Amino acid sequence: RCGFIAIVGRPNVGKSTLMNHLIGQKISITSKKAQTTRHKVTGIYTDDTAQFVFVDTPGFQTDHRNALNDRLNLNVTEAMSGVDVIAFVIEAMRFTEADRTVLKQLPKNTPVVLVVNKIDKDKAKDKFALNQFIDEVKQEFDFIASEVVSAKHGLRIANLLATLKPML
Ligand code: GDP
Ligand code: MG
Repeated sequence: RCGFIAIVGRPNVGKSTLMNHLIGQKISITSKKAQTTRHKVTGIYTDDTAQFVFVDTPGFQTDHRNALNDRLNLNVTEAMSGVDVIAFVIEAMRFTEADRTVLKQLPKNTPVVLVVNKIDKDKAKDKFALNQFIDEVKQEFDFIASEVVSAKHGLRIANLLATLKPML
């Protein structure tokens, strides 16, 4: 199996950190500052049965008052076109209007996996609130699957890969 997966979401949800953990290399720049990723960054993960080509994208901008933002969004739209799966990344317990705006920009007919990031150990304790949060986000869009991860700590990354594999 071989396929392309675009990592998409609003700025600062942890897309580049996730990409780096997925491929096991620090290929994409991560930062607390928004707009660190300005062009798509591609990384490849290969195992015995599959090859995943991950495409990290700039955070989708909702402020259209400057030309850079529109250009960044064009880069995202281009990077998403023709991929097999989209990994739509959000922050745990924080679903915002900006996330909703990104969802509206996703291409039709491409399966979208919801990736709930920043489930660090402490946050995982309140399972009930987390599941309720995920259920609420699932009402917003027809996701094909969902996974929780901590990109920063590399938690449950293998589960995400296992979920993505049959979609390639
Ligand atoms: P991007 O803009 O979506 O590419 O986000 P980055 O990957 O650059 O990360 C934005 C910030 O979130 C950085 O300060 C990361 O260290 C932090 N971050 C990313 N993943 C996690 C995580 O799983 N847990 C926590 N606590 N912070 C994270
Ligand atoms: Mg980034």
